[in-house]
Amino acid sequence: MATIGFIGLGNMGGPMAANLVKAGHDVRGLDLSEDAKAALRNAGGTPVGSIAEAVSQADAVVTMLPAGAHVRSVYTGDGGVLAHARPKTLLIDSSTIDVDSARTVAEAAAKADMPMVDAPVSGGVAGAAGGTLTFMVGGPDEAFEAAKPFLDIMGKTIVHAGGPGNGQAAKICNNMILGISMIAVSEAFVLAEKLGLDHQKLFDISSTASGQCWSLTSYCPVPGPVPASPANRDYQPGFAAGMMLKDLKLAQAAAGSSGASTPLGAEAAQLYNIFCNAGEAGKDFSGIINFLRGQGS
Ligand code: NAD
Repeated sequence: MATIGFIGLGNMGGPMAANLVKAGHDVRGLDLSEDAKAALRNAGGTPVGSIAEAVSQADAVVTMLPAGAHVRSVYTGDGGVLAHARPKTLLIDSSTIDVDSARTVAEAAAKADMPMVDAPVSGGVAGAAGGTLTFMVGGPDEAFEAAKPFLDIMGKTIVHAGGPGNGQAAKICNNMILGISMIAVSEAFVLAEKLGLDHQKLFDISSTASGQCWSLTSYCPVPGPVPASPANRDYQPGFAAGMMLKDLKLAQAAAGSSGASTPLGAEAAQLYNIFCNAGEAGKDFSGIINFLRGQGS
């Protein structure tokens, strides 16, 4: 049994921490929300009032925070994790954040003699609750090996993507493909409607032809062909458009700082930005088809 400091007990972190408790670990959890801390207590963990209390006796620290600014401040701020954890404490940041922040914090952790991985996830709240998340992990080999037993409890698929920041890089590259491909599939269905081509016919043809992709076959943006897709329940998420926009913006920030050319990624970010600003950030990201349909003549 290990002592684990868990910071960020929100929609994802709450159930992830509960799975660590269920596996027999002593989890000391911190969140700004009293409700989130109460949920940890109900799950059998120990809520605490400060970063110091969460991490000073910990063998491992897991963070699941909203964005890069929170992660930088929780790790490297005054009174942060690096100031209070013991040398050799394993650090796992599972938040989805910008690559530059991930690498900056990893460098500071290495200086403090604490092995660290960035380990963002896919799989959403259901994956967090079921312990079936996919972890994309960046960090040195030894840190990955040390983190794996904990990640195995919270997830099903654990992939070592390379050195520090590469977990975040994998996550934003994948989600840039997803954002662009969802727009492409949606445009195809909107064009098919105009041309008098039935949704199911297009699906049957493209799902076995060269247009085949996950956005079409697993997450079809029109109701009917894939009964489990959010299109069949008025685009309730699933994966909210606001989250997709966050990831597309992270991809654009990384493209800017690395000098990569990603014109379709930029266009996808802009379209999701307009969609979200129209009040649809809480809708599933496949709801972008309704926005595209609304743009037609
Ligand atoms: P959330 O907003 O529900 O949870 C974040 C929690 O962090 C909140 O409870 C907040 O109170 C807490 N927090 C913020 N600053 C803090 C601080 N200084 N100290 C302690 N606690 C603090 O968000 P979420 O949906 O759990 O997402 C967390 C991360 O996981 C994000 O980076 C998100 O992009 C990523 N993610 C989310 C999903 C999803 O489906 N929700 C899927 C994949 C990845």
